[in-house]
Amino acid sequence: MFNELHCLVERARCLVGAFDPDALSGVEARVAVEDFVALEKYAAAGRLLAVGRLDETGAWFGDGTFRDLAGWLASISGTTVGAARGASDTARRLRALPASTDALRAGGLSPAQADAISAAAKADPSAERELLETAKTAGVRGLKTECDRVSAAAASRDAEMDQYERIRAARSLRHRRLADGTGSIEIRGPLDRTAQMMAALEPYERDLFTENRTNGRREHPDAVAFDALVRLCEQAVRDSTAPERKAGSRPLAMVIIHMSKTAYERGWTEPGETCEIEGVGPVPVAVARRMASDAILKSLVVDGVDVTRISHYGRTIPAHLRTAVEARDPVCTILECETSRHLQIDHNIPVAAGGLTELTNLGRPCHHHHHDQKTRHDLRRHGPPGQQQLVTKTEYARLTTEERGPPIEHAA
Ligand SMILES: [Zn+2]
Repeated sequence: MFNELHCLVERARCLVGAFDPDALSGVEARVAVEDFVALEKYAAAGRLLAVGRLDETGAWFGDGTFRDLAGWLASISGTTVGAARGASDTARRLRALPASTDALRAGGLSPAQADAISAAAKADPSAERELLETAKTAGVRGLKTECDRVSAAAASRDAEMDQYERIRAARSLRHRRLADGTGSIEIRGPLDRTAQMMAALEPYERDLFTENRTNGRREHPDAVAFDALVRLCEQAVRDSTAPERKAGSRPLAMVIIHMSKTAYERGWTEPGETCEIEGVGPVPVAVARRMASDAILKSLVVDGVDVTRISHYGRTIPAHLRTAVEARDPVCTILECETSRHLQIDHNIPVAAGGLTELTNLGRPCHHHHHDQKTRHDLRRHGPPGQQQLVTKTEYARLTTEERGPPIEHAA
């Protein structure tokens, strides 16, 4: 190929050296101009392709005279560094645009056209084919206008994506309690996501609308949307606690209520007493009670650190209760034992002895304290979670309710 290219250059040199324009007729001169333009076009195309490869290899560096490819190119082609930089940028962009490169090879693109198209196609690769079609019919000016339009559209699309990313990065869901006791959830984020959430509410909203109409109730659409979200959450919890869900997996949603036992029994709080949703804040006892009896929003009534009231007969530990025990007892519940591995949920008073499946009767001792000590010797735990001690059944029976924590052992 090199021989061929060199021969071509040599022949062009001879031809142009001996070229006598005065010998040409007007028509011949016109043909000659057209041929030289074609030659120029192929030469320019070949040069762009070669420059692209040269850029890739870095072989222009030579003895280190030039700082960059554009400097070297300007020096050998007798142009300004700025013009050479434009050419090397075009060459670089063309490496990633095979269709434009093909058109260039076929003599279908001038360097100016290749420059305009490659710049626009870099911003929006999907526009390349259409721009190549435009190049066939529109002049350079028309093509450049079209290329500018493509670049501008791509820039604003990028700006939109930047904007979207900014919104996504700042996404938030804030739940707070307003002064009057209203719960407020503010959700901010990309509109497609919020719209997705709203779309998920629609079937529930339709059902509620029908129900309300049947019952002659008139509700504001915002209120219906609220009820729809509650239903959606209830459904999610039902799904998460459905028996077919694999054992040990945690429920998707859980509400923990911390409250004073006395307040729970009275129905309202008095100074010094607690009734609040964990992580959210105080709620009226009536609300807490309703939640406690709600089959879906599993809740736990807390008295100090002990959770009381949610009792289950039978050995099976519901997922929400298991989660609460795991959260309360991250390490062995026995005093000064820091083991966090192989913890086992234990009924302090065994189910067989009338023990309830409730948080106060459950604990997570380690394998040693559970199996080797408590079960083997039929011992009982007593004291606050994390600081419990093992005592015999007889000793346990002598303890006050306060000392025990868990309820009185039922007659077996
Ligand atoms: Zn232990």
